[in-house]
Amino acid sequence: MAAPLGQRTVVVGAGPVGSLAALYAASRGDKVELYELRGDLRDPSTTPLNFTKSINLALSERGINAMRHASSPALLDAVFKETIPMYGRMIHGEKQGKLFDEAQLYDVHGRFQRAVDRGGLNKTLLDSLEEMPNVTLHFNHKLIGADFRRNLAWFSDHSSSSSSSSEKEVHFDFMIGADGAHSAVRYHLMKYARMAYSQEYIDTLWCEFQIPPSPTNTFKLPSNYLHIWPGGSFMFIAIPSLDKTFTSTLFLPASLFASLDAAPESLIPFFTKNFPGVVPDLISEPELLKQYKQNPHLPLISIKCSPHHFAASAVILGDAAHAMVPFYGQGMNAGLEDVRVLFDFLDAHPASDYADSPAAAREAALEAYSAQRTTDAAAINDLALRNYKEMSHDVVSPLYRLRKFVEEKLDQWVPALGWATQYSRVSFGNMRYSEVEKATQRQGKIISRVINLAVGGVVGLGLVSLLRRGPLWMARHGWNGAAMKLASVVMLPGALVRVMMGQGTLLFYPFPGRT
Ligand code: FAD
Repeated sequence: MAAPLGQRTVVVGAGPVGSLAALYAASRGDKVELYELRGDLRDPSTTPLNFTKSINLALSERGINAMRHASSPALLDAVFKETIPMYGRMIHGEKQGKLFDEAQLYDVHGRFQRAVDRGGLNKTLLDSLEEMPNVTLHFNHKLIGADFRRNLAWFSDHSSSSSSSSEKEVHFDFMIGADGAHSAVRYHLMKYARMAYSQEYIDTLWCEFQIPPSPTNTFKLPSNYLHIWPGGSFMFIAIPSLDKTFTSTLFLPASLFASLDAAPESLIPFFTKNFPGVVPDLISEPELLKQYKQNPHLPLISIKCSPHHFAASAVILGDAAHAMVPFYGQGMNAGLEDVRVLFDFLDAHPASDYADSPAAAREAALEAYSAQRTTDAAAINDLALRNYKEMSHDVVSPLYRLRKFVEEKLDQWVPALGWATQYSRVSFGNMRYSEVEKATQRQGKIISRVINLAVGGVVGLGLVSLLRRGPLWMARHGWNGAAMKLASVVMLPGALVRVMMGQGTLLFYPFPGRT
């Protein structure tokens, strides 16, 4: 192991990412102190997160791989026991007055996502931490200040039963900030690191609902799917839970939420029109209205920053470093992957290579980590923003399905080509996110060339036809008529092929390989 024994590592935030980071540090022999703003979520008296974070999440390969490498053999088994496999999306809609659903498998190789209860996963991680003798957990402690040159942090301690709080000064060798999108560690780090920072609130808000089990205590929908009611600029989704409920989320532009808020009587007609089959089959009308009013309508933030560290003192991980919109189901997975990547870098920079200076080794490791991870975090942030269109709109488009079909068949039948859909690379592999983006662009270019060749073929046929019949058209229809014929024979079919193949443009490129 690279890190020296006994290094004092302070982790801020006991969410999934902070808890896993604490496990990694503890397994390397660090003296780990984990500070968490809230109470212990395993304690029934602790106020639950209650809709400040989605309850059910999709756990995929990157998150699983990070836990696989946590040196805690029982961890993955414990996590898997509490998950439900989701093999694909099930799209719901209505055609000619009839409800329909269509399953779209995620992967030709049968790989799947796992629906997991966020709180349950967090509890399992905390249980594993509790077994480590070199870890101390400090709940009800809020980071209120940090000096990253003197390696000091200040926490307000609300753990006593009285309403007052006391302040604690804590010394650390290394601080890991995993305190979420509104990170205090990041805020203080910015005073030391020359950090570029940007945040964006997208125009979509989300509100959670619960679909109860059927009266015979079974799932009301097939349980091994992520269910989607696509609506174009909005959507409704449902993810299964172990108690046979579904956690559903309504994603809607802020202005639409505002109009529904102003006229609550329009909520049921809105659902009936846009999400057929939900009301009253899955949720009763009064229950839908009640949950809509009771549950908050929350914003979605996307954060990018660089670097993620300062010198040898501190690094930020998870949402603290790269909160993203949830449309790729990668926020937590990427955060857990941060932990694995960070410790890979720390392990690859042993103090023995730096004149036995742990700080010098850590600084080099953090530098390398930040350089790699900021690029990858920005890539998945962008992919997540783009995936909203795929989930809410493209999944019902024949063109999307055609491209998915072609890409999957290439993956299945000619594996030597190394062809894979972007989705499977993101969700079922561990390729760097920025590499996934590049691979997708490469494949896109090839598809584009093939399309242009097809267009070229159509145009060629059109031209042959033009040469053969042009004089006849001129004679019959004059210049204008002949030009119209030309358009219909040459331009329109060419453009149509491009649009059909999902190129989404009416521009006409007659020359193969031009785009
Ligand atoms: P958090 O979970 O936010 O944990 C941060 C912790 O730090 C909290 O416990 C907080 O109390 C504590 N803290 C905050 N401030 C302080 C302080 N000053 N001092 C001490 N402690 C502090 N991700 C997926 O991978 N798959 C999905 O399917 C998915 N779906 C989602 C759906 C929705 C609607 C949303 C909103 C998000 C979704 N995500 C998903 C993202 C996922 O929820 C987050 O990426 C993940 O929870 C981030 O974990 P974290 O540990 O970095 O931060």
